[in-house]
Amino acid sequence: MRPFTSTIFAEMSALALRTGAINLGQGFPDTDGPPSLLADAAANITGGVNQYPPGPGVPALRAAVAEHQSRFHGLSVDPEHVLVTTGATEAIAAAVLALCEPGDEVVTFQPYYDSYAATVALAGATLRAVPLRPTPLRPPTFGFDADELRAAFSPRTRVVLVNSPHNPTGAVFTAAQLTRIGELAAEHDAVVVSDEVYEHMVFSDAPGGPAHIPVATLPGMAERTLTISSAGKTFSVTGWKVGWVHGPPELVAAVRAAKQYLSYVSGAPFQPAIAAALALPDAFFTDLAAGLQRKRDLLSVGLGAAGLTVYPSAGTYFVITDAAPLGVTDGVDLCWRLPELVGVAAVPVSGFCADPELGRTLVRFAFCKRDEVLTEAVDRLAGLPAHL
Ligand SMILES: *Cc1c(COP(=O)(O)O)cnc(C)c1O
Repeated sequence: MRPFTSTIFAEMSALALRTGAINLGQGFPDTDGPPSLLADAAANITGGVNQYPPGPGVPALRAAVAEHQSRFHGLSVDPEHVLVTTGATEAIAAAVLALCEPGDEVVTFQPYYDSYAATVALAGATLRAVPLRPTPLRPPTFGFDADELRAAFSPRTRVVLVNSPHNPTGAVFTAAQLTRIGELAAEHDAVVVSDEVYEHMVFSDAPGGPAHIPVATLPGMAERTLTISSAGKTFSVTGWKVGWVHGPPELVAAVRAAKQYLSYVSGAPFQPAIAAALALPDAFFTDLAAGLQRKRDLLSVGLGAAGLTVYPSAGTYFVITDAAPLGVTDGVDLCWRLPELVGVAAVPVSGFCADPELGRTLVRFAFCKRDEVLTEAVDRLAGLPAHL
């Protein structure tokens, strides 16, 4: 684990704290989730719901996840085939550990969520990371080259780790892209592990398409897909770490076998509260996306005015910029200087890449912050010199 001891994200958050900069590096909201959710969890804690919950999760939450998948995605899920985990992170880790032997290969896309590479290393597996690059579409988004994707597969491919809406690029994969991924997975008899934690954060003007498409909804894919999500992003409770995974019974059983020795269980008082929140009216979920879309626009306009090239975000609460127009040749260097220069912290995209050249001048900003915080950040960014 030596290569994974320190992360640029932790370093940037520490730098933001030291310098008093506005932290648009780490992606956590600065407001709380729905009041009913918070009240339910508090009542559960004082009401004695504090001991080990059942291994697969509390029945109410497993049923609520199944109901949510039917309501939002038209997926038919048996609550028996839902496993509650310690955040999406544990669901991903348990899936990779369960499915990969040392020497097996995991195909994913880079830049990637930072736990992916560490998890694959924990399993003794090998990461094959396919580049996502800006596409010539208008507006530009990030996409993969079909030949590069095919070349990443081999007879040792066991898992394809897909994340859409995608952190950090803000890309939302289209049905055509997901179908291509699914075809290659089927050809190689690989399991798709689909990280859908941003499922409710897709913007109505998304260039890739109007909606999030769960991999399991594609023809023939439910039988080889583990679908993962979590409460952290949807309900602005990233510190609670309650997630879930569902899929074919034999795959979920394998994940459960690994999961029970990672954490056994977690979040007893949170699980029933999250079950109720998953049943909130549609307005909660549409307001979440609409509010974030407004915040995205506020920050994106400011970043553009500061001279950065902005890649429009179609989903998640992140936006990627290219600092090359400011004369920047290294995003890591810029991120170390940015708090000092203007009092804003961000993270370099190369930190999310196996090949740091890929995102050399790209920088990620988070917009899941209160409007006044984003407005202040935009004011500060306006002070950025035209050439650095
Ligand atoms: C935040 C995030 C996660 C982690 O979710 P938890 O429920 O906090 O473990 C997983 N994948 C992606 C892409 C994320 O951005």
